[in-house]
Amino acid sequence: MRIQKYTFGVGDRFAQQAEPQLRACMMALEQGVEVIPTWNKSHREHLIVGTEPPTVREAADRAVRELKWPKPYYVDADHINLDTVDGYLGTSDFFTLDVAYAIGRAAEASAVDNLISSHPELLGTIQIDGIHEPFTSTRDSVRQCAEQFLFAVQEAGSIYRHIESSKGRGNFITEVSMDETDNPQTPAELLVILAAIADEGIPIQTIAPKFTGRFNKGVDYVGDQIQFAKEFADDIAVIRHAVAAYGLPEGLKLSVHSGSDKFSIYDAIREGTRRFDAGVHVKTAGTNWLEELIGLAEAGGAGLQLAKQVYDQAHGAREALCAPYLAVIDIDPDRLPSPSEVHGWESSQYTAALRHDQSCPEFNADVRQLLHVGYKIAAKMGDRYLGMLSECEETISRNVTENLFVRHIQPLFLDG
Ligand SMILES: [Zn+2]
Repeated sequence: MRIQKYTFGVGDRFAQQAEPQLRACMMALEQGVEVIPTWNKSHREHLIVGTEPPTVREAADRAVRELKWPKPYYVDADHINLDTVDGYLGTSDFFTLDVAYAIGRAAEASAVDNLISSHPELLGTIQIDGIHEPFTSTRDSVRQCAEQFLFAVQEAGSIYRHIESSKGRGNFITEVSMDETDNPQTPAELLVILAAIADEGIPIQTIAPKFTGRFNKGVDYVGDQIQFAKEFADDIAVIRHAVAAYGLPEGLKLSVHSGSDKFSIYDAIREGTRRFDAGVHVKTAGTNWLEELIGLAEAGGAGLQLAKQVYDQAHGAREALCAPYLAVIDIDPDRLPSPSEVHGWESSQYTAALRHDQSCPEFNADVRQLLHVGYKIAAKMGDRYLGMLSECEETISRNVTENLFVRHIQPLFLDG
């Protein structure tokens, strides 16, 4: 299996919106651009919602059949490790090996020594095509980097071999993710990481580093856009260099996690990939649940009532809901309207607060982030929530498709 140039992480908490998501990829295809849908739902989401991994495959297969999608598609076992991967082996063909937890843990001293001695090319001045300033490194700086990342790469190797022994070599896509950590990896560190991944024999096709800046859930990028653009392009150059130097898979590319709604860096992503004729994987699954709420609110009546109840209960349970996501949200409680205020809202007030249109004065990024992590509330409503989704299907699916196509696929992949 060879990953396509542009892959797009889709999916939704309750596995009800696969079709409207796929429709957005269909619209891109009609314009001549292949954006390959990759349905993902993290282990954390499955736990919170109380679902099993095969439900993602079922929803994806059904949508592909219904819409007669003529291109490949994937089902991603998202952010798995050795403890959690087994439940995904049967139905996933894309695996995101999350080894962020292992960053900074010490590998055996002999393995660190071995990495340094077997890679003399990592020492001194390294000129990389497409990067202006050469990297300079010393034995000490490479050692420091190995001490930081080698154990994590070895962990990725263990997870990879476990999957390979079950699915067979070449039958799945491998991504390594190091994004859920505090410090971004520099392009120079990425080079050492890729050398170690090659040594470990992992046929990696996409890598998710932690980039500079904050990638908060469901809202725009917060950080230095110019720095991001440079880092993103430099990372692509490093990948290209590493593919040639270490025999890594040809299509190896960057993966942008929490990539939905990061509108202010989409130009940088588009320009970086075009400049190098490189691919990219952008994960956007989280944004779809918010479109569900927008669709419910837009439908008015009982749909709007339910959307208000979700806000009400999410507001009450704020701290518990936010706890698993503290590294990826920034909510100012003072900017959250009270549930009683929201109870007085009309459809247009609810959708204006939630829909990600930053030019709209009523847009409220704090409401958006709170509701982003509030899906547990809807999960607890169970059939009442799911039933309302089918009643409001028309407004929901229209919002899901439009959000993905107009706000995400167009600026990232199509001509502007
Ligand atoms: Zn991630």
